[in-house]
Amino acid sequence: MHLLIVEDEEKLARALKKGLEMKGFAVDWLADSEKARTRILLYRDEYDLIILDLMLPGIDGATITESVRKENVTTPIIILTARNETEHKVDLLNKGADDYIVKPFSFEELLARINSVLRRPTTQQPIVLKVGPLEMDTATRTVKKEGEEVPLTLKEFALLECFMREPGIVLAREKLFDHVWDFNSLSWSNVLDVHMKNLRKKLEHDGEDDGRLFETVRGVGYRLAGEVHV
Ligand code: CA
Repeated sequence: MHLLIVEDEEKLARALKKGLEMKGFAVDWLADSEKARTRILLYRDEYDLIILDLMLPGIDGATITESVRKENVTTPIIILTARNETEHKVDLLNKGADDYIVKPFSFEELLARINSVLRRPTTQQPIVLKVGPLEMDTATRTVKKEGEEVPLTLKEFALLECFMREPGIVLAREKLFDHVWDFNSLSWSNVLDVHMKNLRKKLEHDGEDDGRLFETVRGVGYRLAGEVHV
C-alpha cells in the first residue's frame, strides 16, 4: 500500500511517515500544497490513500480535495484538522474527503482510520484474503500457507498483498513497484526481483512444478495462480 502524506509540520509528518513505514506502507511526504495537487493529479494510480492536512500554506486541504475530485481522482482521502476546525467536518465530507481526524490524535487512531477507509465496501477489500493454499489476514498482518504461519518481512507482505487482491491477473512490474515502494525509490534497481525471489523461497516448494504459485511473465511482470475463495 502506497500512501501520500501532505503536511507542513515537519516533525509530525516525519513521525507519521516513520510510523506508517514500520507498519509496512510505502510513504511519500510533501509539505507544499501546490506540489501535492500536481503529484496527486499526475500519479493518481500510484497512491492507495492520501492523508491531507487541512491548514497548509497556499491551497488548503479541503480545496485540494475538491479540485482533485473534480478531475475524477477517486483515491481515498483522510483530512487532518485542528480541534477548532471540527465544525467544518460535514463540509470536508461534502468536498470529497472519505474521513477526517482531529489533531492531536494517536497514531493508533490514524492507523484504524486508514485501515477502515482502505477496507470500505466500495473498494471491496475483505480483511482475510484466501487464494489457493494461502491465507492473509490484513488486520493482524499474518500469512498462512496450508494453515501454517509463514513469517514475511514488511515488503514481502506488501508485495504478496498486491497479488492476493488480484489473483490470476498478470501484475506489471511497474504497478507492483509503485504500490510497494515510495516515490524516491530507485526503480532501476532489481529490488523487486530480489523480493520476489525471497517470497517464492518462503512460499513455494523447491523443485516441484506443481508447487509453483507465481508465474513470471517475461518482460511484463508476475502472476499469482489461483482464484479467490469466498
Ligand atoms: Ca498545517
